Amino acid sequence: MNAEALLEKLPEVRGRLTPMAPMANVTWLRVGGPAEILFMPADADDLAAFLAATPEDVPVTPIGVGSNVIIRDGGVEGVVIRLGRGFNEITTEGLDIRAGAAALDSKVAQTAAQAGIAGLEFLRGVPGAMGGAVRMNAGAYGRYIADIFVEADAITRDGRRVTLTPPEMGFAYRDSAPRDLIYTEVRLRGGGADAPEAIAARMEELMDKRAAAQPVKDRTAGSTFRNPAGYSSTGAADDPMELKAWALIDKAGCRGLTRGGAIMSEKHSNFLTNAGGATAADLEGLGEEVRRRVQAHSGVMLEWEIQRIGKPSSDTPVDEAAES
Ligand SMILES: Cc1cc2nc3c(=O)[nH]c(=O)nc-3n(C[C@H](O)[C@H](O)[C@H](O)COP(=O)(O)OP(=O)(O)OC[C@H]3O[C@@H](n4cnc5c(N)ncnc54)[C@H](O)[C@@H]3O)c2cc1C
Repeated sequence: MNAEALLEKLPEVRGRLTPMAPMANVTWLRVGGPAEILFMPADADDLAAFLAATPEDVPVTPIGVGSNVIIRDGGVEGVVIRLGRGFNEITTEGLDIRAGAAALDSKVAQTAAQAGIAGLEFLRGVPGAMGGAVRMNAGAYGRYIADIFVEADAITRDGRRVTLTPPEMGFAYRDSAPRDLIYTEVRLRGGGADAPEAIAARMEELMDKRAAAQPVKDRTAGSTFRNPAGYSSTGAADDPMELKAWALIDKAGCRGLTRGGAIMSEKHSNFLTNAGGATAADLEGLGEEVRRRVQAHSGVMLEWEIQRIGKPSSDTPVDEAAES
């Protein structure tokens, strides 16, 4: 990495460009090397002008609040773009919600509830921001972003502004089709009107259910692997008929499996956890070991839901055996 040389190739901005910015403290798992350059744009115009003027061979990686990523120990080459102030406004009108891509999912859910808009309760306990929620089609308890999505504004790698409608999003289970876009604003529509107190009560219920089942206070990145059955057909998070990643992990004996400071949570076996002092290589290596053991046991190759970003450190190979 030669961050200073890269900095000279980049255009002037109104936001902030930081060379060799530590990324571990902006992700939930608290691991990973630096971003060669971290760019925090002032607003969408600043971001569009930056992308238009940045040489096309410079890799660009958007990141939200880092609740669904492992940043690898060798850091991220090129420019990491993190949206902050200037992208977190939330407004409502009728059943419509307009949210900047840096607005937290929980804030969007609470704002909708205060405005008497029902149908966004599921977002209350998802710890990400709206850009990541759209990219990942965030969902919980049988509801997904796809169910409430109207359109999103985004900026292409070459700085063009585009607006995407549902068919262009190609939403799938914990995924969406577009790549190389940076979402800047999202428009959502609730499912109906209700009393704010009733919506708040439903959100509290979901929060309690989540706290009982998931290690919500630990350093995790949410579900590590996608459920092989994909979308839940019944909407019940604990329906035994669904092919659940956690059930396959349990059957392969991987609940509590460790490697360095990484552990498959005892509370929820699909939550990869930094129990203290884990490296990204510990976490990713443990995840790969779980995939191998699940495939050997049940024939199913689990697919990562956590996005792995950046490059491994040269002295921390990811495929050594995990310890039981
Ligand atoms: C305790 C815990 C519980 C969780 N529970 C759930 C759950 O119930 N349901 C669920 O769906 N997820 C859950 N997650 C995962 C995570 O919160 C969601 O995937 C969330 O939507 C990710 O948002 P983020 O801002 O953290 O994105 P990040 O983790 O920062 O990024 C995720 C992906 O989105 C991309 N991205 C981020 N911002 C943008 C943008 N502006 N434009 C384009 N791409 C972007 C990144 O490049 C990356 O590929 C949980 C995580 C934790 C830690």
